[in-house]
Amino acid sequence: MAAQILSGDDVARQMRREMKEEVARLQADSGVVPGLAVVLVGDNPASISYVTGKEKACAEVGIRSVPHKFDADLSEAALLALIGQLNADPAIHGILIQLPLPRQIDESRVLLAIDPSKDVDGFHPVNLGKMLIGQECFLPCTPHGVQQLLLRSGVPIEGRHVVVVGRSNIVGKPVANILFQKQPGANATVTICHTGTPDMGYFTRQADILIVAAGRPNTVTADMVREGAVVVDVGVNRVPDASRKSGFRLVGDVDYAGVSAKASAISPVPGGVGPMTITMLLYNTIRSAKAFHQAA
Ligand code: NAP
Repeated sequence: MAAQILSGDDVARQMRREMKEEVARLQADSGVVPGLAVVLVGDNPASISYVTGKEKACAEVGIRSVPHKFDADLSEAALLALIGQLNADPAIHGILIQLPLPRQIDESRVLLAIDPSKDVDGFHPVNLGKMLIGQECFLPCTPHGVQQLLLRSGVPIEGRHVVVVGRSNIVGKPVANILFQKQPGANATVTICHTGTPDMGYFTRQADILIVAAGRPNTVTADMVREGAVVVDVGVNRVPDASRKSGFRLVGDVDYAGVSAKASAISPVPGGVGPMTITMLLYNTIRSAKAFHQAA
């Protein structure tokens, strides 16, 4: 039987429809319009394209995105000063710093400067610590998007064995943390693999749900997947493609053709986790605006 496609496009569309109504209600009830500051430093083409996508998505649901775009030689002090202003601005409910930052700027110092109550990317250590101990917080968008993609596609997580390939701070570690929490929609048994894992296939073949975030095409091939497993491909890799105007196409970390013949469900690239990531950023921004309004 053909694998079910875990369509992030479809789930994101449905969630954004719900969010648009929520934003309209918030504005009608309280006059509050959620505001997201979008900070871009430099002209990295991938970053520009991510920022454009985020701004478009904000407009779609009625969030006011406020761009702050700078040349690549911006000083760390200037960026920290801007963050101070945004932290104090009551019309801004979320601060997004598009990563990576140029070399002269210390990324961790910048992320630490964001008020955790406006950290809608969920990268501040306060939010990551709260996530770890299972407290209310902003969850990082990609891992939260993976969880929502599974749940809203009808894939139960509780009691399943989830194997995660990758242990980065933005995907692997947080997705593992979210899914093993003793909470509804989680409560899985989680194994994490990385470059120090000998014979990775031994572990991945035991997965009911396999989440791959390695950053390399073909990290997971059909022989590494159990018949009937659910596979979520977080990877986004540009590979040269002369037939495209852009000169490249996007592929994930999973050998899609081989693995989709064995999996019961699989997320495509593009159209899988990518749209979910942006959607969870919108979700966090709306939550923040509501919390600010309730506290006022
Ligand atoms: P990263 O920081 O480079 O981390 C990659 C992780 O994978 C590392 O922990 C690394 O292990 C592990 N790894 C790499 N090759 C491996 C292999 N052959 N076997 C086992 N483990 C391996 O990458 P990331 O930021 O987590 O991103 C991962 C992928 O997801 C990238 O393609 C990125 O573009 C994509 N991504 C997509 C979205 C989205 O919205 N769709 C968002 C974020 C990231 P070590 O720790 O041992 O080095």
